[in-house]
Order: sequence, then structure tokens, then C-alpha cells
Amino acid sequence: MARPATHHDCARALWLLGLEPPVTAAQLQTAYRARIAQAHPDLHLESEARTEAANVLSRALNAARDLVADWIASERDWPALAGRAPAAATGAAAPVAAPVCRRTGLRAGDLVRVWPYDGGLEVVAGTEPDRDRAWVILQDRGAVRSERVMLAAYQCPACGRCAGPAVEHPVLRPCPECLTDLRALERRPAETRRVRSAIEARAEAGLAEARALRDERLEQRAEARRRWARSLRRAGPDDLRAALVSAFTNAFDRWTAPV
Ligand SMILES: [Zn+2]
Repeated sequence: MARPATHHDCARALWLLGLEPPVTAAQLQTAYRARIAQAHPDLHLESEARTEAANVLSRALNAARDLVADWIASERDWPALAGRAPAAATGAAAPVAAPVCRRTGLRAGDLVRVWPYDGGLEVVAGTEPDRDRAWVILQDRGAVRSERVMLAAYQCPACGRCAGPAVEHPVLRPCPECLTDLRALERRPAETRRVRSAIEARAEAGLAEARALRDERLEQRAEARRRWARSLRRAGPDDLRAALVSAFTNAFDRWTAPV
């Protein structure tokens, strides 16, 4: 038997359907029909990959609808959502501290661009693991393979890596590589030196990107992270590991704290 749905599951389902609680059965049905119409496999016959993506999204929407329908029937209290419905999201922050996908390092509310990465910003509604790959579900487009999605309009406070387009308030959040490196450091201390070099390389890339975007704040932060990474070149292994873990966890904690 499946575990009972938590408030968090319900919040995620509402997010995926673009709903704000409280929700009536009629509102649920309307939202579900609108979302499924964009996602239905029949609309995506041109390629197998797209059909598969649409199927994944359809399954996620079906599961979300069933969960919310059960929630309405059970008359439980609705989860408190601090903030906005996805349609109003501007990228300043996610409305709830949504769970971070371990496969992609993404979470609902993140701003991304889709390959070839020169189009407009899109908002992540969620992610779906599927065998050996992951799908990123975008609010206005449906499911896209995670390799074709890149974080946008953000800077990583741990390594200084950043991405355009230039916006007034880029999101400060750990980059997916830092999230992976944090887990590697926790499990495999032998990777410490490799992680430091990788951070310095990302800081370098962040600095170049910040200059290309002509954003001084991004540039200053990337420069500070590069200085920090370089200052650790000659640190002993234990000091180095402690410095890296603390930089990652600070960045991660600030990011995942409830808004
Ligand atoms: Zn980073």
C-alpha cells in the first residue's frame, strides 16, 4: 500500500497543477484538463522522445490530480503555501522550499533555459526520474530531458558560477555541480583536491560569464569565490575539506530555508 500523502506531497501536486489552496473538485478538474491538454501524448507524435516525455508528464499530472482529489475527499487541512501560484512566479524565490531533485539539482520554481539556451526563461514545475535519465517538467512547455535544460539567471554562492540572461535579481543558489560535489565530499574525502580545483575552474568560468553579462555584482562575487578557491590551494587536507563542506552547506542551507 502506498504511504499516506503528506502536506508536502499535496503542495507539490497543487504546484504542478498550477493551483492554490483551497481547491474545489470543479477547480481541480478544470486545472487538470488545461494542463493535460498541453501534455497529452497524442499531441506529440513527431518523435519517440517527445512522446515519452509527454507520457511522463501525463503520469505526473494524473498522480497529482488523484492526490488532490483524495485530499478534497478527506477534508484535511490544506498545506500552507507561502507565496504565489506558479503562473505568477518571477524567479525571486520558490514559493515553498520545494525538494531538490538529486538527479538534476533542480527544484520547482527554478528558472532555466532549454537547449540551445538562447531563448526566454522558463519555470521548472518539477522533475521526474525515469530509469537512467530524468525529465524536467516546465510550466509552459511540458517535459524536457534534463540534459537539455540549464539553470538561468542565477549565481552559485559557493563557486561563483553564474548564467544569464542579465536580470535585476539573479537567484542565489548552489549550482548542480556544487550539490554533486557536496555529496561526493561527504562520502569520499579522497575527492577533496579534485573538488577544490573544480571550484576554481567554475569560479573562472563564472567570472568570464559575469563580465560578458556586464553585471558588476555577479563579477565581484565570482572574483571573491576565485580568490577563496585559490587561497585554499596549499591548505592541508583536513582544513581544505572543512572549508569546502562549510561553504557548500552554508550555500545549501540558505537556499533551502523556507521563505
Ligand atoms: Zn557552484
